[in-house]
Amino acid sequence: MVKAVVGANWGDEGKGKITDMLGEKADIIVRFQGGANAGHTIVNDYGKFALHTLPSGVFYDHTTSIIGNGVALNIPVFFKEYNEIISRGVPAPKIMISDRAQMVMPYHVLFDQYEEERLGGKSFGSTKSGIAPFYSDKYAKIGFQVSELFDEEALKEKLVRVCETKNVLLEHLYHKPALNPDELFEELMEYKKMVEPYVGDVSAFLWNAIKEGKEILLEGQLGSLKDPDHGIYPMVTSSSTLAAYGAIGAGLPPYEIKQIITVCKAYSSAVGAGAFVSEIFGEEADELRRRGGDGGEYGATTGRPRRMGWFDCVASKYGCRIQGTTDVAFTVLDVLGYLDEIPVCVGYEIDGKVTTDFPTTGLLEKAKPVLKVLPGWKTDIRGIKKYEDLPENCRKYIEFCEEQIGFPITMVSNGPGRSDIIYRNK
Ligand code: GDP
Repeated sequence: MVKAVVGANWGDEGKGKITDMLGEKADIIVRFQGGANAGHTIVNDYGKFALHTLPSGVFYDHTTSIIGNGVALNIPVFFKEYNEIISRGVPAPKIMISDRAQMVMPYHVLFDQYEEERLGGKSFGSTKSGIAPFYSDKYAKIGFQVSELFDEEALKEKLVRVCETKNVLLEHLYHKPALNPDELFEELMEYKKMVEPYVGDVSAFLWNAIKEGKEILLEGQLGSLKDPDHGIYPMVTSSSTLAAYGAIGAGLPPYEIKQIITVCKAYSSAVGAGAFVSEIFGEEADELRRRGGDGGEYGATTGRPRRMGWFDCVASKYGCRIQGTTDVAFTVLDVLGYLDEIPVCVGYEIDGKVTTDFPTTGLLEKAKPVLKVLPGWKTDIRGIKKYEDLPENCRKYIEFCEEQIGFPITMVSNGPGRSDIIYRNK
């Protein structure tokens, strides 16, 4: 059985925690898209970890953690993280890296920085991890698959060719030092040493695992609204964040994905630029940011303060629909326990008309939030295990959001830990 854990919003919904939790019963956990530009924070028996490229399954010794072909694989970052968890007492995880995964090249990171510098105030707020240049090269067919490390002559030749075009841009557009293909080759040979023991044919491995009835989790990065097709283009990420892409980025049949668990945070946060209709500012935002997540809403990769907002039913309804949601995991609800009243965004007013349909980017920029204010519950709900034991106003908040988004909330997360979860039978 294949399940996907994906985000409904802008990312940082708590997918890492849900994947880590569901990982207990999973045989295999696969990252299928994205790179080291976003991170998951996971709290478990070994401590608190910020993972950027390692799948969230690395803490279990019964799971195999896989880097699928859809990932932007930064090899040195991957192994830095790998060594870090081992040095903190986590047993060496079973890892498999797709021979078809492409590598983030050292110059992708440089191009990301140079382009943000060039754009100045008009920049995308990139994390400068090289992700956009990486995916551009992948689709321009000048990327490098892990498998290419194993044919040194062909690799050398291709590096010369790719450097020729890169160097034109470096010299004339960015006015930066040129790339040297020989140096890059040496660097790639270092990468080869690191990955060699882990490289394999992931789609064949998953095919057999499905036949054997294994439980496979697909772990998404970011959320629906950052999808390049269905998100807030161009303020999106460069690979698809949707469960459907899990089939491609892992290499398994789409019809095998039986459960799509869409993680939805009980309030909103976003990083980077782009329209964010239910955004709040000032002290109201600062307080939610300070209390949010587990230790504040600051980027797991960048440490940047996240933009904060109330729960957005319009964006979440759309985010869940476009994922093909079967189950919603409603997370970080405990954080809202300090509020007397909790505003929720129930509609967008665009040019004088109110809609609950999420629009394309141009219209989204003009949208003003229509808020409904719900009563708070003013207690700490951490530690509660049964839905019925939640305060009435808290249940009402959940049920109101559920009705607005139109997908069943079957899990409520009331704390960062693995066991802070309330299951609801729907
Ligand atoms: P991801 O990228 O979707 O995995 O999200 P992040 O890891 O960036 O952000 C989620 C943050 O919230 C992390 O610090 C988690 O430890 C924390 N978290 C997850 N679920 C809960 C929850 O139910 N309550 C609280 N207080 N924190 C949570």
